[in-house]
Amino acid sequence: MNHVRSFLRFSLTVLLLLGADFIGIAPRSKAALQEPANATQNAAQNAAPLPTATQQAIAAPAVPTDPRALYDALNALRPDGAHVYAVKDLTLRRDIVNFTFTEGKLAFLEPLGGRITGAVFSGRGHVIATPRDRGERRSLAQFIGVPILDQSFSDAYIRFSDDTAAELQRQLAHDGNEPSSDPRFTAYWNPLAAGLAPTHSLRTMVDWLAAEPIPYFYILLQTGTASPVEVSVDYRRDEQVNIGQPRFVDGVRSYDMWASFRSENPPTEKSEAFLPLDYRVDSTIAEDVSLQGKTMLHLRAGRTGERVVAVELSRHLTVDNITDENNQPLPYFQNDELSRREAARRGNDFILAVLPAGQPAGADFHLQISYHGSVITDAGNGAYFVGERGAWYAHIGGEHFTPFDLTFHWPKRLTLVATGIESEAREDRESKSGRWRSETPFPTSGFNLSQYQMASPTGQPKIQIYANKQLEEAIMARLQVTTPNDLPPPSILDHFKDTDHLSGAAGQPPPPSPTSALKQLGASVQDSIRFFENVNGAFPFDHLDVAQIPGSFGQGWPGLVYLSTLAFLPPETQERAGLDEWAQSQARDLMPFHEVAHQWWGNVTGAASYRDVWIQEAMANYLALWYADTKKPGQHRLANWLEHYRAELTTKIPGADHSIELVGPLVLGQRLNSLKVPDAYTTLIYGKGTWVMHMLREMLRDPGAPSGKDPDARFRELLRAILAEHRFRPLSTADFQHAVEQHMTPAMDLEGTHRMDWFFDQWVRGTDLPRYTVKFDVKPRGNAFVVTGKLEQSGTEDVFTAPVPLYAIHIAGKPERLGLVVTTGPETRFQFESRTRPTRIVIDPNLTLLWNKG
Ligand SMILES: [Zn+2]
Repeated sequence: MNHVRSFLRFSLTVLLLLGADFIGIAPRSKAALQEPANATQNAAQNAAPLPTATQQAIAAPAVPTDPRALYDALNALRPDGAHVYAVKDLTLRRDIVNFTFTEGKLAFLEPLGGRITGAVFSGRGHVIATPRDRGERRSLAQFIGVPILDQSFSDAYIRFSDDTAAELQRQLAHDGNEPSSDPRFTAYWNPLAAGLAPTHSLRTMVDWLAAEPIPYFYILLQTGTASPVEVSVDYRRDEQVNIGQPRFVDGVRSYDMWASFRSENPPTEKSEAFLPLDYRVDSTIAEDVSLQGKTMLHLRAGRTGERVVAVELSRHLTVDNITDENNQPLPYFQNDELSRREAARRGNDFILAVLPAGQPAGADFHLQISYHGSVITDAGNGAYFVGERGAWYAHIGGEHFTPFDLTFHWPKRLTLVATGIESEAREDRESKSGRWRSETPFPTSGFNLSQYQMASPTGQPKIQIYANKQLEEAIMARLQVTTPNDLPPPSILDHFKDTDHLSGAAGQPPPPSPTSALKQLGASVQDSIRFFENVNGAFPFDHLDVAQIPGSFGQGWPGLVYLSTLAFLPPETQERAGLDEWAQSQARDLMPFHEVAHQWWGNVTGAASYRDVWIQEAMANYLALWYADTKKPGQHRLANWLEHYRAELTTKIPGADHSIELVGPLVLGQRLNSLKVPDAYTTLIYGKGTWVMHMLREMLRDPGAPSGKDPDARFRELLRAILAEHRFRPLSTADFQHAVEQHMTPAMDLEGTHRMDWFFDQWVRGTDLPRYTVKFDVKPRGNAFVVTGKLEQSGTEDVFTAPVPLYAIHIAGKPERLGLVVTTGPETRFQFESRTRPTRIVIDPNLTLLWNKG
């Protein structure tokens, strides 16, 4: 269930962001920025570089106009061995990052068309940077032990489309530095320069072909650590400054994003290079479930004069051709140019198509992309899964709500489900075909197909629920094990592992068919929709299809929900499959309703960036638990899950001196996964995120509401207001905070500013989790008792503030609410009156606050 659609969609964006050595090729949608104030100047310098000895000595070859020739020419650039400088104390500052080239040798790359695009350095150097944002300093500290980047380096590979060359040349000229020939230096650097070039050639090409370049700077530093460290400042990205480290773990390349943040002088105006207006996708699925597809992208130019369109597509699909609206083939770059490791890690390719000419801002045009490959996994026994999320069609990355028009042709033996309203269903001897059109703008589109059986409960909205006739092979293998204890408990969040080695066992009852759950599951999905409509407003789509998928996760698409096979299994079968109590509850009480809640949270509004994914996930999870809680109030499902999450958040990480809570704030999103702490993303986004939503609901709640009045009216109003204001638009954490501020009660205004900074800074942008102890005295006064004491707060910064409810326990009777203590530091004094003498004081027995009880 963490593999829900919105999560997946954003992981693409995020992973691109993580691929810092693949700078800005695909403008993360929000990353495409207006040129910064100093860029024009930089561009001017690029266009008319300062004459230097280097450039005078070499007759500048003409810049190729053909994109592929330009790319090849950029790739061929090598350090200029005839002009190697012995340098001392050269300095560069890019944003908040300071580089000193203390002593060593430096050569520029050969110029192309008079422009220099890089330099290499060997010797002694130093880099120092302190991110302004506390969350980013925390992230740095997680990776390197200290909250600042302060490292020495020996080698440096530098690439840029900004004025770095001119800046270094000025310093060299000022020092009267004369270059000399050094073949040994270039012999060392030539193979490295060749290997590192392609990514930068593409990035440089994007700028060189644009009417108004948006420059970037990149440096790869060999520090004392095993892998080099990279720093980039790219004004095409939303978060311009990235500091990180590519790593090999067990032969697999991964990426650690140490820090990512906006420049200290971010461009004020931002616009994307190209926006999608609508998609038309035609897909033919062959008998062997390979896919041949064609996406017609209707695009609008967001900026004048951009020629390179970055399109995302699964790495399992090979582009056959790209044509413009006059049916003319366009040059494009896929696969070979993008380093293989990057594509493997991201799962997606970024295909760069080059337009014949730049478009004026606002102009719209079409691109047609044809491709083929294999994106459908056969899980056995007639169960299939389209594993490429939204990347089975060509699209512009990022969060865009657009109309979709999908046509499919597929083998007759299978049933296909897809997002949108179906029409034009046809069937011939071998195949079926149909067309699905979105009834509202969709953030993404998906389909699946299998040997499904379908049921449709009566009622509104129309629901069709699809299950496989047989269990997929992995689960069958699981059920054939003698005892479930033979297997490690499966993580609900992982795919089932290969279970081929397991032997069958006699005497087991025959495995159930998932179709036996159709009726009951359909009814409970419909019941949950009624609950969610009461919270969020009317169901936003024409109908809801619910389809089983192999594996152990769910996904929520617009009007289409995928549920893991596990949700279709009766409890005894779940247990035989090795699911523990929590995994069973997750599959039964949580996953189906979490995915249904994504119909609103994820598909009506979506996450504006990777930093905002937590809102959609936490809200879907919280609403699912709230619904499950109302179905069986006696089972206290919400309270049990909240305590379960609290325990997960406050348990010390094995081998570390802190709990998972301290790993990073919710706004790190996917980056939490790179922090080498297992399950950090899941535990924080779902566990802590759920608590954040719960705390908001509790603060907005009116427990004294007269009977017949809804004590949660304010919380519902908040949710409806957000969904109305951001209908078919992305939602950022700042938008969410603003909406909470418009619905906050006076009691929530702890800082007297009518703002909720205290809450979001602590719980969303911060990592602290408080501990509390209480000390008190009781004195009789009249017929009552005066309770005075202090509430001690630890485990947080001193400025941490929270409303902490205290209750008195008496010898007899229910706990009596004494009142709320708003903490203002390590110690907060209080005085309350109690009707009877308290024997004990308990802190927050009704679970309104996330704090560390351990
Ligand atoms: Zn989800």
